[in-house]
Amino acid sequence: EPAFDLNALREDFPVLRREVHGKPLVYFDNAATSQTPRQVIEVFNDYYSRYNANIHRGLHTLADEATAAFEGTRETVRAFINAEDSRQIIFTRGTTEAINLVVNSWGRTNLGPGDEVLISMLEHHSNIVPWQLLARELGFAIKVIPVDADGALDMMAYRTLLNERTQLVAVNHVSNALGTINPVAEIATLAHEVGAKILVDGAQAAPHQTVDVQAIDADFYAFSGHKVYGPTGVGVLYGKRELLEAMPPWQGGGEMISTVSFEAGTTFAAIPHKFEAGTPAIADVIALGRALDWVQGVGLEAIGDWEQTLLSYATQQVREIDGLRILGTAPHKAGVLSFVVDGAHSQDIGLLIDQLGVAIRTGHHCAQPLLHHFGVDATCRASFAAYNTVEEIDTFVASLKRVIDMVR
Ligand code: PMP
Repeated sequence: EPAFDLNALREDFPVLRREVHGKPLVYFDNAATSQTPRQVIEVFNDYYSRYNANIHRGLHTLADEATAAFEGTRETVRAFINAEDSRQIIFTRGTTEAINLVVNSWGRTNLGPGDEVLISMLEHHSNIVPWQLLARELGFAIKVIPVDADGALDMMAYRTLLNERTQLVAVNHVSNALGTINPVAEIATLAHEVGAKILVDGAQAAPHQTVDVQAIDADFYAFSGHKVYGPTGVGVLYGKRELLEAMPPWQGGGEMISTVSFEAGTTFAAIPHKFEAGTPAIADVIALGRALDWVQGVGLEAIGDWEQTLLSYATQQVREIDGLRILGTAPHKAGVLSFVVDGAHSQDIGLLIDQLGVAIRTGHHCAQPLLHHFGVDATCRASFAAYNTVEEIDTFVASLKRVIDMVR
């Protein structure tokens, strides 16, 4: 049993009441996007009904209210990840945009021929491709931190790869494809010993465990709203203050300037606004704040504990299925269960199990290098959230067995 009232918590999620193909929905695709509690949904109704206005420059009541709610969320996020100062919180469209900001601002001014960026084998494409695009332009090298057979990072190999040419280490906190939890504080310490910076992709960590960017000593930390019970279209980049202050803007426009002149050129606003050109996703940011409040209200530790219970129960159940292989068996894992089944294509399993009302994800999970390393093109992935139940796992396992019998 979870430390929270599971039935009451499920009541917060209207979508959990729906049926799919005449069956009650079992939603196990939380690593892709988590569902949204009514408290978060209500923000949109409230915002657009009462105080929809552009922020920062307005001198009228609606603009003031919208600005206060928007900037208030910056403080909510600061507290959520224990950042030093809310000015170190930059709102982006998501983890992807947060990483692209670091790549195009910090990377473009700090990397060149002879430099090395270490990227883990576990990375999502969003922490690989932006670096590759820049490397093509600037001529630095990308080195890969390998994983062991369990899908844990090979820390010995990591130590060997680090050297005085290493400028940055890009690693996720939790792998979306396997669930591996990486020792990011240790990875940071080792990176800092050679003078390198570390960017942590926290997209899969923020919903499941307490994040403390100062304890990790992360130089940059990114996460997405839609994986932490918030809306799509909004995410966060945290950066160390001296780094952010030294970095140039990466997008220009309104909101990010101090003065603009054709003769004298343009001076930029201080952080965080220097990195927030244009009108942001105001309602979405405010809704993200409400989502983080909701998560804190339930308790991240209780959520993480419950997901561990679900993960170990589900792991135990699927292990009994003939020919099923779990990918990702590291000792420290979040609630992600990735697997392949002999004689059954992942795609077929995904399509057929949907007919039984069960939503899982199939495919490469935007981690093709990792999947190819394990010799597969696709897996089935069930991933858990606070509102999932043991009964849902029973339904999932029974449905999975039926589907496997059908396709074999
Ligand atoms: N990193 C990881 C580990 C992810 O799981 C995801 C989303 N699947 C991303 C980055 C990208 O996040 P977004 O699409 O919200 O920008």
